[in-house]
Amino acid sequence: MRIKESVRRLEAYVPGEQPKARNVIKLNTNENPYPPSPKCGEVLSGFDLDKLRRYPDPEFALLREEIARQNATTPDRVFVGNGSDEVLSLMARAFVEDDEEIGSLDPSYSLYKTLAAIRDVRWVGIRGTGNGERGTGNGERGTARQGKVSLFLWTNPNAPTGEFAEPKKIAAFARKFPGVVVVDEAYADFARGNCMSLATAPRNKNVIVMRTFSKSYSLAGLRVGYCVGPKDLIEALYKVKDSYNVDAVAQAIALAALKDRSYHKKTVAKVVKTRKAFTKALSARGWDIIPSESNFVFAKPPTPAKAADVFAALRERNIFVRYFPGLLTGDRLRITIGTDEQMASLLSALDELL
Ligand code: PMP
Repeated sequence: MRIKESVRRLEAYVPGEQPKARNVIKLNTNENPYPPSPKCGEVLSGFDLDKLRRYPDPEFALLREEIARQNATTPDRVFVGNGSDEVLSLMARAFVEDDEEIGSLDPSYSLYKTLAAIRDVRWVGIRGTGNGERGTGNGERGTARQGKVSLFLWTNPNAPTGEFAEPKKIAAFARKFPGVVVVDEAYADFARGNCMSLATAPRNKNVIVMRTFSKSYSLAGLRVGYCVGPKDLIEALYKVKDSYNVDAVAQAIALAALKDRSYHKKTVAKVVKTRKAFTKALSARGWDIIPSESNFVFAKPPTPAKAADVFAALRERNIFVRYFPGLLTGDRLRITIGTDEQMASLLSALDELL
């Protein structure tokens, strides 16, 4: 059987574990601990089955219009995908020639590296967020090599660090960068700011802002993400997508979630409040925590404890957090913010362990 050389060499992306048992505390994949808006349930239970007989709207017009309206832009600057992971994959297809490269911060969302490998192009990592380089202690700055990196993925807030880079810093980077800059704002609803105004500015030529329904809208299982940017770049994504990339149920539920703005605001506020309290509680126990603007914290246990051992011991107790081995990340754990009760259980488990 013939398998492409680049695919044979490929190290597949490994998503966070989805344990089968029900009695686990799952703080490992940055899911939201609260349910989606009740309006989503209403749409789902009242969904007209006849709509499933027909193909969905290939251009997701209603959803696009609402996204455009909420971001004070026009629908022709909006694209929707089967999760923002699909949007990323389409970007790698549309904006990168075979002899070009994909760049991102390092550490960052490890899927980017895999995307470059799938596309069989080089991935270039830039240390730190350029925003003080706190926490991971990697102050080395790099610059994407002019002309080679054609797509730069800037995660903001970054993952797994939670660090927030000021939008003006990203704007300055984009002005000098010759290719497409994608600001991956998967976690921006939990942060003090975002880059949407860069993406919607009429003079903007190369900035795309990407969001997802998976985190702040509690809809990771639905698979909907979107992006906003210059018309020509958005058009290119439409050209390379599958005809019906967002199914009819997903379009309807995402629209309902988007429209229920007060529920969204309340859910986000609860997570942020818990993040602040948990950060304080963990700091008081001697952990080093990078200030997070996200729905997780990236924290280093007090010496002599080792992150890998704490991860394993918590897992034994059915508490799942995320451990990323490696030079830049292996001394910390990424802990998703759950409910107050879940965080209290985690803290008492840590008190027993350490
Ligand atoms: N970007 C970042 C930075 C993420 O952490 C994630 C979730 N793992 C995604 C994008 C993908 O989100 P989704 O495909 O669920 O929209």
